[in-house]
Amino acid sequence: VTGSVLRITPLGGLGEIGKNMAVVETDGRMLIVDAGVKFPTAEMHGVDLVLPDFTYVLERADALDAIVVTHGHEDHLGALPWLLRELERATPPPVYGRGLTMAMARSKLEEHGLKGVPVHTTEPGERISAGPFTVELVHLTHSIPDAAGVLIDTAAGNVLFTGDFRFDQSPIDGRPADFERLTRLGREGLLLLCGDSTNADRDGFASSESAVGPALLEVFARCEGRIVVTSFASNIHRVAQVVAAADELGRKVALVGRSMVKNVNIGRSLGHIAFPDDALVDPRHLDRLPDDELVIVSTGSQGEPLSALRRMAYGEHRQVTLHAGDTIVFSATAVPGNERAVNETIDRLYHLGCEVVTAREAPIHTSGHGHREELKLMLNLTRPRYLMPVHGDHKRLRLHARLAEAVGIGPERTFIGENGLPLELDATGARFVDPVRAGMMFVDGLEIGEPADAALRDRRVLSRDGVIVLIATVSEQDGELLGEPELIVRGVPTQADGTLVVSLRDVVRSSLARAAREQLREPELLQQVVHDDLADFLCRERHGRPMILPVIIEL
Ligand SMILES: [Zn+2]
Ligand SMILES: [Zn+2]
Repeated sequence: VTGSVLRITPLGGLGEIGKNMAVVETDGRMLIVDAGVKFPTAEMHGVDLVLPDFTYVLERADALDAIVVTHGHEDHLGALPWLLRELERATPPPVYGRGLTMAMARSKLEEHGLKGVPVHTTEPGERISAGPFTVELVHLTHSIPDAAGVLIDTAAGNVLFTGDFRFDQSPIDGRPADFERLTRLGREGLLLLCGDSTNADRDGFASSESAVGPALLEVFARCEGRIVVTSFASNIHRVAQVVAAADELGRKVALVGRSMVKNVNIGRSLGHIAFPDDALVDPRHLDRLPDDELVIVSTGSQGEPLSALRRMAYGEHRQVTLHAGDTIVFSATAVPGNERAVNETIDRLYHLGCEVVTAREAPIHTSGHGHREELKLMLNLTRPRYLMPVHGDHKRLRLHARLAEAVGIGPERTFIGENGLPLELDATGARFVDPVRAGMMFVDGLEIGEPADAALRDRRVLSRDGVIVLIATVSEQDGELLGEPELIVRGVPTQADGTLVVSLRDVVRSSLARAAREQLREPELLQQVVHDDLADFLCRERHGRPMILPVIIEL
């Protein structure tokens, strides 16, 4: 027993779905597990991505010994380039993970022009030393190949981050989770388990990924026209099953969507999936094949605005024009928060005359996250002293804690945490300590900003109340208005009779006349006066608070 303390601070992923990130500290040194993003909700106008607020890490950047990534999904890997960029260290910290995960990391860093980051492919069983931390990856199954738990050993004890996992007994690649290692860990002693809570509300076991292929084949066999399958691009075992089912029915497959093509290429080059080149057809040559000899695999299962399927649904896709007779197969379910966009897409597809098959009609999807019995199995195998449920909203974290009780891990050993709330563990026990800064940061184009930043505030105003642009010319001599003021009104709540512009013009006229009497000459001052008068008028007449942009020109 030493005097060391092990400190775990989640910076994202608790009380929410997405942007998973945790900081592990001991002896003044720091290690990060995952750096994920979250996709913005409809209210976050123009925000491209949501990142965890990692100010806490930036403030002690020199103490960071390594970043370890559990798997290649965006909610675990997407913030990596942003984090490395903001760290601004002369020597970037090393990044560790398995083959596919690191291939995806490298491609991301390249896209961001980040050079010189040491990205190390590490396979389960290897032990990596980083400062006071010894890191070992443990093979687990999930909806992307090369998923791993991260076991971190320190003088103060050890912690296992499961990452996202399920116990698939018959995975496509024939490699079930490393039960032997998990069991040994339970025998040797595990201080803390940080476990995936995503499906803590779903009973039993998730069905095997290998059951999806036959279900897809059954659905495909009933289709007479073209088939479009949408699923997560990173679920390359799913894509392989689609290709196999298509092949069985004598159909060729076209991959559509940038990330679909990219992930299949990475997956093929690393040997995770294999199929002959002639199983595929170039999306530019779709018209060379009759409808009943074609399967299109597309991105867009979440209704993402720029995705291939979404563009097809709106008739805006360059290569694929959907029509009656086509069947769209959703081999995925909506991630919480995406339901509306998915439903909208589905309805557009019906409008085009397409048939739509979702996981509700046929077992063509299975979750990558373990259900309740799998979470219990993880606890029974690893037998942790303490549990901190992670990767879930508040409800699921609580449900995970309750499951733990069922396998003998009582409430005194379970810590339901929050983003920014550090858990400290030492020889005497475990406890939450004073919170640190946590929350979200927004990516807007290439910049990282705070939620309160001006651009976002502006967009919120624009989306709610619209914008008014005023252009007026005044005489340099006496400040009198020259000619008619020009007004452009967009998105302002108003009656349809067009009288608003007339009234606004009157306000501008009297405002400038008053300013002329008061000898105000400075264009900037005039702009302020007109702005305030227009704002008062609009508010009084219940037209909301549109953004007002006055331009006064002196002549
Ligand atoms: Zn995840
Ligand atoms: Zn995942």
